[in-house]
Amino acid sequence: AHLARIDAVDEKVHAFLHVDREGALAQARAVDEKRARGEKLGPLAGVPLALKDIFTTKGVPTTVGSKMLEGWIPPYDATLVKNLKAADVVILGKTNMDEFAMGSSTENSAYGPTGNPWDLTRIPGGSGGGSSAAIASYEAPLAIGTDTGGSIRQPAAVTGTVGVKPTYGAVSRYGMVAFSSSLDQGGPCARTVLDAALLHEAIAGHDPLDSTSIDAPVPPVVEAARNGSVAGMRIGVVKQFRGEGYQAGVVQRFDESVELLKSLGAEVVEVDCPTFDLALSAYYLIAPSECSSNLARFDGLRYGLRAGDDGTRSAEDVTALTREAGFGDEVKRRIILGTYALSSGYYDAWFGSAQKVRTLITREFEKAFEQVDVLVSPTTPTTAFPIGERADDPMAMYLADLCTIPTNLAGNAAMSLPCGLAPEDGLPVGLQIIAPALKDDRLYKVGAAVE
Ligand code: GLN
Repeated sequence: AHLARIDAVDEKVHAFLHVDREGALAQARAVDEKRARGEKLGPLAGVPLALKDIFTTKGVPTTVGSKMLEGWIPPYDATLVKNLKAADVVILGKTNMDEFAMGSSTENSAYGPTGNPWDLTRIPGGSGGGSSAAIASYEAPLAIGTDTGGSIRQPAAVTGTVGVKPTYGAVSRYGMVAFSSSLDQGGPCARTVLDAALLHEAIAGHDPLDSTSIDAPVPPVVEAARNGSVAGMRIGVVKQFRGEGYQAGVVQRFDESVELLKSLGAEVVEVDCPTFDLALSAYYLIAPSECSSNLARFDGLRYGLRAGDDGTRSAEDVTALTREAGFGDEVKRRIILGTYALSSGYYDAWFGSAQKVRTLITREFEKAFEQVDVLVSPTTPTTAFPIGERADDPMAMYLADLCTIPTNLAGNAAMSLPCGLAPEDGLPVGLQIIAPALKDDRLYKVGAAVE
C-alpha cells in the first residue's frame, strides 16, 4: 500500500531519491515467513520506513544528496540500519536531503527540491525534508532523520509531524555520513509521539563501532509515551525565543501550548538563557570547521565521482577538479569558512572562541535544568516559507534553526511536535520540548500529554 502511495504522489512531492521496491517487498515477505514459522518478530515487524539518504545501506545507493556520491553503492549497513532490520522494519527507500545535510529547506539537494505536502510550493524543512515530507504525505508511517542543528525538528515543525533529536551519543553514527561529528545525531520521525518512541527504542543503544556512543541504558521512552502527563512538573519557557523575527501565529500557538501545559498541572516559569543568542554564531564556526575536515575524504580517488582523470593529470589536480564538480555552493561555502576558522593564526580567535561559547551554553542548560524538568519554545520562528525565498540568502536560511541549535551544542535531547496551524497561513506550527541529556523519556512524557 505504501509503495502504491509513493507511485501516486511522489512525482509531485519528491520525498524519495531512491525507492527500493524489490528490497522492501523482500523484507516484507521475510516478515510474513517468520510469522508463518511462528518465530519471534521484531518490535516493528512489517512497518514501512523512509530512510534519510545519509545512512549507508548495503547494496542500495547512498548519495547524501550530493553529486559527489552519485552511483556509489556502499558495501555495508550503518549500525542504525542493522538495528532497523533487527526490529523487522521494512525500508522503503532513501529520502531527499540538503547536500551533506547542510541546509534548512532541502533546496541544496543536488537532485532537486522536495515539496511540503501541505503546500507543494513551500519548503518541507531541511536538511531532512524528504523524511518529513514522506510521513506528512502518508508515503511512510515512520522515517529516520539526522539532526546537527535542527534537521529533524525543523522539518517536523513545518510539516506537522513529530521529530526527536535524542541525546548525543544515543544513536550510533557508524555508517552515517559525517557532517559535524560532535553535533550529528540520528533520530526518529513519525506522525505521533508513541510511534516516535517505538522507533527511538529500536534504533538507540550502545555501539562499540562509534567512539562517542553512550554506554548507558536507553531511557524508557515508550513507557513515557504511553503515560503522558505533566502534572507536578516544572516547565521553563526560554525567554530568548520570541520577539523580532517570530511570526505572530507561531507565537500565538506556542502561548496556547503553554496555557495547555498549565491547565494540565504543570508549573510554568520563564527561564533566562542569554548565551543562547550566541548559539547561531558559534554553530556556524564549529559545524563548518568539522565539515571542512570530514569532507576532506571526498578526494575523487576513494568513492563516487572522479572528474578530469584523463590519464594526463596529477592526483592532486583530479582531486581539485572532482571537488569543484562534485560539491554544491553551500558545501563549498562551509568548507571555505571552516578551513579559514581552523587556520593557524585564526584558530583561537574563531574556532577557540566558538568552543568557549559552546561551554557557556552547556552550563546555561545545566543551570536551567536545576530549576525545571524540561524547557519549551517554538521549534522555528516561522512556518514553511516558499521554495526559492531564502535560496540566495544564507543568513535568512540559517535563522530557521535559531531555536534548535543550542541543544545540539550542549548535546541534550529535544522533540518537535505539532501544536496547531498558524491562523495567518494555515500552516503547521511546532512546539519544541528540550530535556537534559539522558532524560529523553521526559520529552515523550510531556509530548504525549499535549499532543
Ligand atoms: N540547517 C542547519 C545547517 O544547515 C542544520 C542542518 C542539520 O541539522 N543537518 O547546518
